[in-house]
Amino acid sequence: MRSFQVCRCGEPLQVVERSTPQPTGTQVLLKVIAAGVCHSDIHIWDGYYELGGGKRLNLLERGIKLPLTMGHENVGEVVAFGSDAKDIKLGARMLAHPWIGCGECAICKTGEEQYCKTPRNLGVFSDGGYADHVMVPHPRYLFEIGDLAPERAAPLACSGITTYGALKKAGSIIRDEPVVIIGAGGLGLMCLALNTMMGNKGAIVVDIDPVKRDAAKKAGALAVIDGNAPDAAKQIMALTNGGAWAVIDYVGSSATVKLGVDSITKGGKVIVVGLFGGDITVSTPFFPLKAMAIQGSYVGSLPEMKELLALVRAKGLPPVPLKTRPLDEVAGVLGDLRAGKIVGRVVLTPVG
Ligand SMILES: [Zn+2]
Ligand SMILES: [Zn+2]
Repeated sequence: MRSFQVCRCGEPLQVVERSTPQPTGTQVLLKVIAAGVCHSDIHIWDGYYELGGGKRLNLLERGIKLPLTMGHENVGEVVAFGSDAKDIKLGARMLAHPWIGCGECAICKTGEEQYCKTPRNLGVFSDGGYADHVMVPHPRYLFEIGDLAPERAAPLACSGITTYGALKKAGSIIRDEPVVIIGAGGLGLMCLALNTMMGNKGAIVVDIDPVKRDAAKKAGALAVIDGNAPDAAKQIMALTNGGAWAVIDYVGSSATVKLGVDSITKGGKVIVVGLFGGDITVSTPFFPLKAMAIQGSYVGSLPEMKELLALVRAKGLPPVPLKTRPLDEVAGVLGDLRAGKIVGRVVLTPVG
């Protein structure tokens, strides 16, 4: 088994050769056929998130252990499984839900394993798919993709479930009222596509980059707004008839979260997904007076992954730009992602 590992934060990935692990118990071994490259891998590689004001959140102190094979958007073919793994067949092409908890605690029993206090997330807390094989602890995290293209299905594991999870948090109001999406990068465009597939009212998209605003407009946004415009909040208020019910922020900077807070109506919520980093000051009386919620959204749950796949089977895969590159180019792809050179998603395909 060959994998690309982070051995020290910020240092080049190391190619590691070792014998392919054999699954035991409920484990399932996949041969990786598609591994999407996610922006959050840059933070894992660096070892920190920016918290604003020069402060950093250190990931090694948060339980990430090195060496680590990153890669959490994986589709693979079942090549072996343990004797307790049921309802699984050799050769099946499966999408691996990577947001895995202990499976035993109270929150895991509710299905929200992404909040488990002992996470085993693939590519974050356990080895992921920047390798020719990946081990999944139980068949319940695997979803057969049928005739969906593996490289197009792989991003559902993070980009797809993250945007779906955020849209679900916006609530049923967005069936009839527009949702505001801040940031028209990969996640913003995925969110826009899923919002349409879900049959919701539509989205007002905010971005500071005219090229990205244009992409959002072409992808069916009801309206686009320049996030740098001094009256951006006023424009959102005008387009939402007095304030938005839900703003989903895929940037997560001081300026974008503030814009979200300034743009919602009474009972509205700001859902923060982006990890750009920053901090904000909020006048506390607005929490009760506007019945305001500022909520974070971290990936999505296993039941939401089931719903997302049902939606994709009914409506097709979300049309987001995508390129494939060989697994060996993983470090270069991460570098391009860091430099902002990648439009949409890059999905790695395994060697040989
Ligand atoms: Zn991700
Ligand atoms: Zn748990």
